[in-house]
Amino acid sequence: MNYYKSTFRSELAIIPTVARVIAVVAFVLVQIALLVLVPTYCNAKDVPPRPALIAISLFGGLIMAIIVLLVGYVNADSKRRGMNSLLWTLLVIFIPKALGFLAYFLLRKPLVMACPKCGTSIGSDFRFCPKCGYAITPTCVQCGRSINRDYVCCPYCGKTVGTAVS
Ligand SMILES: [Zn+2]
Ligand SMILES: [Zn+2]
Repeated sequence: MNYYKSTFRSELAIIPTVARVIAVVAFVLVQIALLVLVPTYCNAKDVPPRPALIAISLFGGLIMAIIVLLVGYVNADSKRRGMNSLLWTLLVIFIPKALGFLAYFLLRKPLVMACPKCGTSIGSDFRFCPKCGYAITPTCVQCGRSINRDYVCCPYCGKTVGTAVS
């Protein structure tokens, strides 16, 4: 079913697994770099005290991980919206100061789909086409639950719906 309802959780769910893995790796690499490599190879008096160093590396690692996840989100989200996902992924990575992300969220196409009957562009959360009245997600007239178009009776309440659904 192409019915789509956007929630923060469902938005997070589209982040590709590979982006999640890279985010964890990036976080770990930042910890190793700042907590192991810096104290080992830098002049001791240039290195901030241990608690400060830990705070910096946790914060830095978190920022890195969030950026990676955001890039992954833009990649999946632009694909879903029929945009050029490779172009947008590269833009958000290479345009500095998060301006790529800003541009993306300002310019991204709304999540739309076409009415299967008349072809009008309709919002992803519409249940009926405003132009032709087509039921995008048919619902049982008695109990209001979503049902499949080819059902003869509602599987939840047993009401005959074969003719009730347009
Ligand atoms: Zn329509
Ligand atoms: Zn029902």
